[in-house]
Amino acid sequence: MAEENQRTEQQSRPQTDRKPNNRKNNNRKPNGNSRQGGEKNTANKSNQNKNKNRNRHRRQPAPTDENLKKFVGLNQEIHKQRLNPHYKLDLNSSDKIRITPLGGLGEIGGNIAVFETQKEAILVDVGMSFPDEDMHGVDILVPDFSYIREIKHKIVAVIITHAHEDHIGAMPYLYKEMQFPIYATPLPLAMIGNKFDEHHIKEFRKYFNPIEKRKVYKIGNDFEIEWMHMTHSILDSSSLAITTDAGTIIHTGDFKIDHTPVDGYTADLHRLAYYGDKGVLCLLSDSTNSYNPLPTPSELTVAPALDRVFSKAEGRVILSTFSSNIHRVQQAIQYGVKYGRKVCVIGRSMERNIEIAMQYDYVRFPKNIFIDADEVARMNDKDVLIVTTGSQGEPNSALFRMSIGEHRHIKIKPTDLIVLSSRAIPGNEASISGMLNHLQRAGARVASEKDIHVSGHASIEEQKLMLRLVNPKFFLPVHGEYNHVAKHKETAMMCGVPERNIILMTDGEQIEIAPKFMRKVKTVKTGKTYIDNQNNHQIEDDIVLDRQKLASDGIVMIVAQVDGQHSKMTMKPKVTTFGIVADKQDKAFAKEMEDVLEHFLLHMKDGLIENPRALENDLRQIVRKHIYRKMKKYPLIVPHVLVS
Ligand SMILES: [Zn+2]
Repeated sequence: MAEENQRTEQQSRPQTDRKPNNRKNNNRKPNGNSRQGGEKNTANKSNQNKNKNRNRHRRQPAPTDENLKKFVGLNQEIHKQRLNPHYKLDLNSSDKIRITPLGGLGEIGGNIAVFETQKEAILVDVGMSFPDEDMHGVDILVPDFSYIREIKHKIVAVIITHAHEDHIGAMPYLYKEMQFPIYATPLPLAMIGNKFDEHHIKEFRKYFNPIEKRKVYKIGNDFEIEWMHMTHSILDSSSLAITTDAGTIIHTGDFKIDHTPVDGYTADLHRLAYYGDKGVLCLLSDSTNSYNPLPTPSELTVAPALDRVFSKAEGRVILSTFSSNIHRVQQAIQYGVKYGRKVCVIGRSMERNIEIAMQYDYVRFPKNIFIDADEVARMNDKDVLIVTTGSQGEPNSALFRMSIGEHRHIKIKPTDLIVLSSRAIPGNEASISGMLNHLQRAGARVASEKDIHVSGHASIEEQKLMLRLVNPKFFLPVHGEYNHVAKHKETAMMCGVPERNIILMTDGEQIEIAPKFMRKVKTVKTGKTYIDNQNNHQIEDDIVLDRQKLASDGIVMIVAQVDGQHSKMTMKPKVTTFGIVADKQDKAFAKEMEDVLEHFLLHMKDGLIENPRALENDLRQIVRKHIYRKMKKYPLIVPHVLVS
């Protein structure tokens, strides 16, 4: 086709040049005064020469080889079939599957989803998330389990993709209430086991079913599941191929495509391609880095920066990263050891994760490179690497306690070099900055190399690769806030998924998928349960609401003694406030409240005095109105009326 077009263009050119108009133009400017005219003149001449030559050598086009043409057609048909998933699905099937995210959409973290056939259901991941700043005293958020309670009888298993907190963190809270068989690779199971031990539910380890990757497991009657190895910022991550009678669904879990992972175990692209070639009904894919146009660098690219850090450091190196990023910790330890340092691991989660990784042979270190925290003081500074938690400035973390001089063994010195090998999770910027202030005030230097951290999530190009490998008919972008999944949708459309085959879900929305259609069917109850980490107990919603009110609007307490017969106060009421008026205005405010109270008693409904609860309620309303009128605030109001 292209050749033919070219030919037509060449043939038509001489005709244009011979237009009388051109000649006229040239005649009008015989001297070629105008620069433009002159150029045209030369151009026309040389064109005419070329055309003469071309005409001389012009030959008839070779006849079309019908056989070649036939193969072009055949290949076009192959492309059509290869790229169009419709050809691979059983469109006559009436089987359906329903997917309901109960967390992880419209938010970062807290991932949990229900996959449901007519008779059975599985949960994919049971993660936790972190509270907003105004959820005072709340340490973690656990998904609302209402819908799980509702379909409890249908659930045949909990399926885990990887061991990050936002995928397994809510497991103990779910299992304290109800239990199901758990299927996962060994690292997630080991980490869940640890949680069960901490929560004193050791016995639920009996629900563990460790799996082998690249094997298809029949789970219940309706599900067949294969775990496919994935690269991510934690070891032993998986994507899932979930097959039911309706077809195969690929759930990527969290992923990046790392062609040079530290352990050499690259993402199992072959299995993804295998399913893609067989025909995939629907893809659920990680949207966390949907905006990143640059490919996510390999974990190995952190190595040169680490080497540089250790080669230059003259005192102790204190490195902090996410405790679950075992490969990062492994690389840090390798370079520390390379420069003759002993390694001290500080921080409960960091110690536990390294211990598990070594226990299960995910990483190997000679035991003699490790020292205890109380040995650090006896060592030369140049011989010490401290690997610790606290890269997010968490107030309970080891690094934070070191920064404010409250760590039992480690006091920050001016020769210390602090390395934060992590990014700030959105919302943590202020606490990280605060910790850096403390560290630098104590004299420490902070390494600020940009290349000392890489992301664990797929950027646009890797999302495209996933879409192309899996080639799904339907697409559900998951893991991320609305804008992340919306951006992922654009990428999917670029990769050939029609817009009508993509749904942007939010938590609680139930999607029904069959080979012929995908649609929203209903919305189920979702939400968060607040957890206090000190005792692992739930904090009731109203407590958190009270705390929010206290923090933003303060509290007023009024104690009054009333003579029931005459509806008069027998003594001055006692008014105490916090967070409403300055101390010096306390008296004036108390007087104001006294007037409000007197007025209230004078005008209250008959009989109210006999009903203390109703009395206090009415009083609360009056005080609230008054304070709102004056201060535009809704403080917590605690009236206490003693009737005598
Ligand atoms: Zn993850």
